[in-house]
Amino acid sequence: MLILIINSGSSSLKYQVREIHDDGSEPDQPILTKGLVERIGVPGSGIPDHAAALEQVDAHLEEVLAGRTIDAAGHRVVHGGERFSAPALVTMEVIRAIERLAPLAPLHNPAAAQGLRAITARWREMPQVVVFDTSFHQSMPEEAWRYALPDALYTEHGIRRYGFHGTSHDLVTGVAAQTLGIERDQFRAVVLHLGNGASATAIRDGKSVDTSMGYTPLAGLVMGTRSGDVDPSVITQLISRGIYTAEQMDHLLNKESGLLGLSGNADMREVVEAAEAGDTAARTALEVASYRLAKYVGGYHVAVDGAQAIVFTAGIGENSAPFRAAVLDRLGALGVQYSAELNEQRSGEPRVISTPDSAIPVLVVPTDEEQAIGALTLQVAQQHGKL
Ligand code: ADP
Repeated sequence: MLILIINSGSSSLKYQVREIHDDGSEPDQPILTKGLVERIGVPGSGIPDHAAALEQVDAHLEEVLAGRTIDAAGHRVVHGGERFSAPALVTMEVIRAIERLAPLAPLHNPAAAQGLRAITARWREMPQVVVFDTSFHQSMPEEAWRYALPDALYTEHGIRRYGFHGTSHDLVTGVAAQTLGIERDQFRAVVLHLGNGASATAIRDGKSVDTSMGYTPLAGLVMGTRSGDVDPSVITQLISRGIYTAEQMDHLLNKESGLLGLSGNADMREVVEAAEAGDTAARTALEVASYRLAKYVGGYHVAVDGAQAIVFTAGIGENSAPFRAAVLDRLGALGVQYSAELNEQRSGEPRVISTPDSAIPVLVVPTDEEQAIGALTLQVAQQHGKL
């Protein structure tokens, strides 16, 4: 079976065609083709919107699939609000619900809805499934998702913590529990998804009970270009003093901060290299980022009543041994001990990098959001008798 996986960013569209068997397993080489359309909606790019981008994708697929047809499409959608606590089969009503959630993700949800409408128009009979970044975190208790703000902000404007990277946190939680031989519904862990965007999630009984991103993906950890947590008054003061407009401030916090703001470089590899070469700004960036993350791990260890695992995933979590070491070196108070040798070893497999006497096992688990979306697409389409 062939599944088209679509990840619509605000101005980009990533896609993959994956082969998947009826039972959800995949062949050794599951990816038939993949690609990226960029600069959507940018004047002069010739790609006015996501519907036009999909036409390009369609033309490319016709060439490479040599007569085979796509059986289903799975879409990553950033925001499912409180409406979606699980992936959903696409209907016109579901597309409208995604559009209604646009105030929560003004750049992403309209782009996703446009892609959904374009595919529905092009392949009327093909089942489509939407997988939300937020839905895994709908299990959080109110004490974790409420902000201490007047009630009307929640009831009238939906201002609350939603959390993101849910597909990855969910997948990695399952793999980590399995690797340790613990039943998922009894598993307590702190999962660290560290990519360009980064978030930590507290897992209890295999479910999300807290997460570091909030109303938007700006909150929490120090990221490639995002600030993570800052005192909200910094923002209101700089705007009220007329130093920045709200729009400039949004850009500053999302695109000019984090590792980039601190060190001049958003890429962890380059920050680590610069720090090793003695660049003090790069060293500070690593210290701020690893200290912030270690504080979250300590907090979430409490939130889950004692984690049975600390799990690293995504680009930095899977590949940056120096950053993992910088975080783990700060967790001595939790009895965490890791093997420098295991930490340095490169592998694409889930693995334990702590020593046997560590109070909490430390794991590295590769994530694959596209694979997870493919599997969920098949599952939901089958549940509805569409495949
Ligand atoms: P995205 O959030 O865009 O999916 P990724 O999960 O691909 O991001 O993570 C990107 C980050 O991973 C970058 O900061 C990059 O420096 C880091 N990274 C990727 N490969 C390595 C590596 N071999 N060593 C250290 N860091 C790496």
